[in-house]
Amino acid sequence: MVMEIRTTLSTHPATDKQLAEVLANPGFGNYFTDHMLTVEWTPEQGWHNGRIEAYAPISLDPSAAVLHYAQEIFEGMKAYRHADGSVWAFRPEANAARMARSSERLALPVLEIEDFVQTVFDLVKVDQRWVPEASETDEKSLYLRPFMFASEAFLGVRPAQHVTYMVIASPAGSYFKGGVKPVRIWLTEDYTRAGRGGMGAAKTGGNYASSLVAQAEASANGCDQVVFLDAQEGKYVEELGGMNLYFVHADGRIVTPETGTILEGITRASIIELAGKLGYTVEERKFGIDEWKAGVESGEITEVFACGTAAVVTPVGELVYNGGSIASAGEGEVWKTIRKQLVDIQFGRAEDTFGWMRKI
Ligand code: PMP
Repeated sequence: MVMEIRTTLSTHPATDKQLAEVLANPGFGNYFTDHMLTVEWTPEQGWHNGRIEAYAPISLDPSAAVLHYAQEIFEGMKAYRHADGSVWAFRPEANAARMARSSERLALPVLEIEDFVQTVFDLVKVDQRWVPEASETDEKSLYLRPFMFASEAFLGVRPAQHVTYMVIASPAGSYFKGGVKPVRIWLTEDYTRAGRGGMGAAKTGGNYASSLVAQAEASANGCDQVVFLDAQEGKYVEELGGMNLYFVHADGRIVTPETGTILEGITRASIIELAGKLGYTVEERKFGIDEWKAGVESGEITEVFACGTAAVVTPVGELVYNGGSIASAGEGEVWKTIRKQLVDIQFGRAEDTFGWMRKI
């Protein structure tokens, strides 16, 4: 099915001068493109009233279910400008499939993969002058945020009968200014992110709301990010607030925590394929926090790195916890090789041997 989207262009787009100023130093999540895309859903009509219009605040009934029961999901992905001026997306079908899984978990309607990809591409085409130029030392891109929420005006607790899906876009600067820097990670032992049967694998706002107090604890302890352990036994490493983790071993094995209660990162999945091709053995399994500490101490673990759309790959320099800290093998070459291969594919500087890129 091809979704019908009406376009009404903004009467007040950013001027070239304003746009140039924003794209020179966008930061993250500060500025939004001239347009937004909206599609509505009801059980009777399915997806309908698709439209692209000027970016603006939306009107929501105070009883809209999302404001009370958090029935909401989202995605995060990027559009990259290549040297020849063309604009590309990285594995958008994987984001679409994850959004569909999030829909199932949150009892929201499922948007077909092709509709997700089409709507995201439609918005990028209308706002393509907002996709920044990039270089090897300046990894700018256009961050894309599709999201879906319960817009029905009803306080009963049940799946909403009116749902809104939107796409907005925001230019993003290099995650690291002046080169990649190892991050310090805080181990939270008081808070968990997701339990068995919970929402950990879904990309839903509630998971991020629950992470904020732990993230604040991390900042108070001089750390950049927080790492969560499993909720049942408090023994196994799960993921960071917004990134997945990898542990490189001296014998060529690379271990990443198994899925189930963590977000299945598109970067994580891509690294599994890439590392396999580079000759590493990738293990997806439970990985103990004790195994992390002991492995670094003995030298068996040679590198620890985190991965996600925002930073691609970033080494973990130190693990800090109540009562101590360990240096965390943030040097090494494996993370660098993997990172370079990924960004070179994304920005069109290397051949896309995996068939991951889609031209917008
Ligand atoms: N875990 C969490 C909790 C995240 O928010 C993200 C970012 N989406 C990731 C992992 C990494 O996922 P991806 O590689 O798809 O960006």
